[in-house]
Amino acid sequence: MSTRIGLYGGSFNPIHFGHLISARSVAEQCGLDRVLLIPAAMPPHKNLPDLAPAADRLAMVRLAVEGDGQFDVSDVELRREGPSYTIDTIAALRADWGPSGEFVWIIGADSLPELATWSRAMQLVETVRIVAARRPGWAEPDLTALRRVLGDANVERLRKDVIPTPAIEISATDIRMRIAAGRSVRYLLPDRVIEYIEARGLYRVR
Ligand code: ATP
Repeated sequence: MSTRIGLYGGSFNPIHFGHLISARSVAEQCGLDRVLLIPAAMPPHKNLPDLAPAADRLAMVRLAVEGDGQFDVSDVELRREGPSYTIDTIAALRADWGPSGEFVWIIGADSLPELATWSRAMQLVETVRIVAARRPGWAEPDLTALRRVLGDANVERLRKDVIPTPAIEISATDIRMRIAAGRSVRYLLPDRVIEYIEARGLYRVR
């Protein structure tokens, strides 16, 4: 029997309850057996001056999901040199899991239009099911430009896989700003992650 595995990539700088609650909601709605959180080595779409070292972001995700039988972390993108392209990540995980793994790539619905600019986008959407988590109050993603790149059938499939997830108004950028300003981040992310940030002195300077 195959294992349905959700793959949730991000910078996780740091991981917070918004990521975790949204991933759990997708897992429930899509009947996922496992969710792998995948910290990106060099997010190709981001240029963050206050990006914590990859080893720290990985350690924080580990702490966040410790003891959870369903959620786990993968360092697949951190073991690779260069930018983390999703299509390469999926190929690497496919090699690890073999045919028994049924993958679902999870992204925020706001990132869906950007798929057109992702490396080998057509191959990607034909290789893996992509589920887009849409938070209430956020605009329906405009997929017009995507249609030109991926074609109507692919975009229709993507549109059907936009699923509602709870609105959790927590952002990693806000967390980093709060830490730099010496404000509390309690209740925004797991305590163990907060302790790690404090012990390592992360995000104190912007
Ligand atoms: P930053 O503020 O550093 O840009 P981010 O959380 O938006 O942080 P990532 O860590 O790369 O950036 O996010 C990974 C995924 O989590 C993205 O798909 C993003 O849309 C989603 N995400 C981020 N915050 C939330 C939230 N509060 N609720 C649901 N999904 C979220």
